[in-house]
Amino acid sequence: MIRDPENGPQASHITQLPRDAESSFADSDSPTVALSTGAGFFDHTPQSLRELLASWKEPRFRVDQIFTWVYRDGAVEYGAMSNLPAKLRERLAGELPLFRSEVIQKQRSNDGTFKLLLCWPDAATSECVLIPDGERRTACISTQVGCPVGCVFCASGLGGLQRQLSPGEIIEQAVRVRQLCGSNARLSNIVFMGLGEPLANYRATLHAIRTINADWGLGIGARKITVSTVGLPLQIRRLADEKLQITLALSLHAPTDELRRKLIPWAERVTIEELIEACRYYFEQTGREVTLEYILLGGENDQTGHADALADIVHNMRGNVNLIPYNPVEGLPYLRPTDEAVNRFLSTLKGRSVNAHVRNSRGLDIDSACGQLRRRESSKPVTLGISSLANGPTK
Ligand code: SF4
Repeated sequence: MIRDPENGPQASHITQLPRDAESSFADSDSPTVALSTGAGFFDHTPQSLRELLASWKEPRFRVDQIFTWVYRDGAVEYGAMSNLPAKLRERLAGELPLFRSEVIQKQRSNDGTFKLLLCWPDAATSECVLIPDGERRTACISTQVGCPVGCVFCASGLGGLQRQLSPGEIIEQAVRVRQLCGSNARLSNIVFMGLGEPLANYRATLHAIRTINADWGLGIGARKITVSTVGLPLQIRRLADEKLQITLALSLHAPTDELRRKLIPWAERVTIEELIEACRYYFEQTGREVTLEYILLGGENDQTGHADALADIVHNMRGNVNLIPYNPVEGLPYLRPTDEAVNRFLSTLKGRSVNAHVRNSRGLDIDSACGQLRRRESSKPVTLGISSLANGPTK
């Protein structure tokens, strides 16, 4: 059932895989991977905008006004910032674009999940999702254009990595998703679970986390922010040393190195033991339990023996398990597990005293698996201006 990755559509990832994937990204971005060109408003902190406006001979208090308009009041254009001089508004609009993306696709699921496809000025595209659940409104955002990891079951892995997203592009996704909530509602949670490996774009991801968390930014509590990684032990330790209270989610997906390497090409040079050690370090430094994400693939990794081996791993760390029944992706041979297999897996874990939950799949009637919408759209010509959510959602 598992494809030979050498012959699969992501075979190019295998050959492109750096000898030491982690060290090549150790300073957040590979020298061979392009960043976007140009900066926008969302790349700025109050400090850096202060410096820019000082060079324009503008008073310091303008920075607070602008940040309040954007993050607190949800302004979508400088023209709306009525307490700024017209000349400054014009200059900002000309030299520091507020929104750099265009929403080129918006899908709404029957369960209320929204998915946006954004197009950046260089025609790169990225996805972000709003997942409403009662009072909770979660934005799922991407950190890279495409993904270098190449998990064999994932749509994002099919095209490889195109480029890193800048801090501003990561933050802008969260702001775009917030616009979908309407004027009276705010985002409650952010998950870095969209396209890409966040820890392979470390500095931009960290910058985005700090802005999303800041009082002057989106003001979302650190404990409501989750970073999901396929597992780069050095970067996990580095993140632990930041001493943030964010949740770390490790995408394990297999309880043995052998099976994991078949499913995740990047797992070739890292063992589960090294990852668990890094997770233990994360817990020691932050006091935060690590969540193990486990995608259940029908007939692949969903048997009782797998659940038992997973329980052994969890007993070696402070962690909990999220089980995610797979959403089939067009063109890939992996199956959704049966309900019976999911229940059996869950009760085996619970029988071993593992704190485990099944995460309900959302948006099954749209291109909900990460990368699906982008992949579908990339086979069509890009049409800018289909819709702009700058003025809020069009339901
Ligand atoms: S599952 Fe995540 S890490 Fe794996 S290829 Fe997809 S986006 Fe990348």
